Amino acid sequence: MPTDPKPLHPYTQALLAAVPVADPVVEATRKRVPVSGEVPSAMNPPSGCRFHTRCPLAMDRCRHEDPALRDLGAGRAVACHLHDMAAQ
Ligand code: SF4
Repeated sequence: MPTDPKPLHPYTQALLAAVPVADPVVEATRKRVPVSGEVPSAMNPPSGCRFHTRCPLAMDRCRHEDPALRDLGAGRAVACHLHDMAAQ
């Protein structure tokens, strides 16, 4: 799968937004996405979406239902309930 500079998954977006930018002007003005909560255990992953404990956009459905991987075409796919809702 190709690497895309604009990830569709909200947790990936949040992680990339946490990476510091070497330019101090850009760093001082760029939008930040808060990432808080517990890091999910790989040995005992949480129910529902594996990222719901730290995803800034998690909703109740995310805690109970594992999102299906949705093929978006052009070599892109995402597993997120927000994209399920956008497609309806
Ligand atoms: S399914 Fe929910 S918790 Fe998982 S990435 Fe999407 S919004 Fe976040």
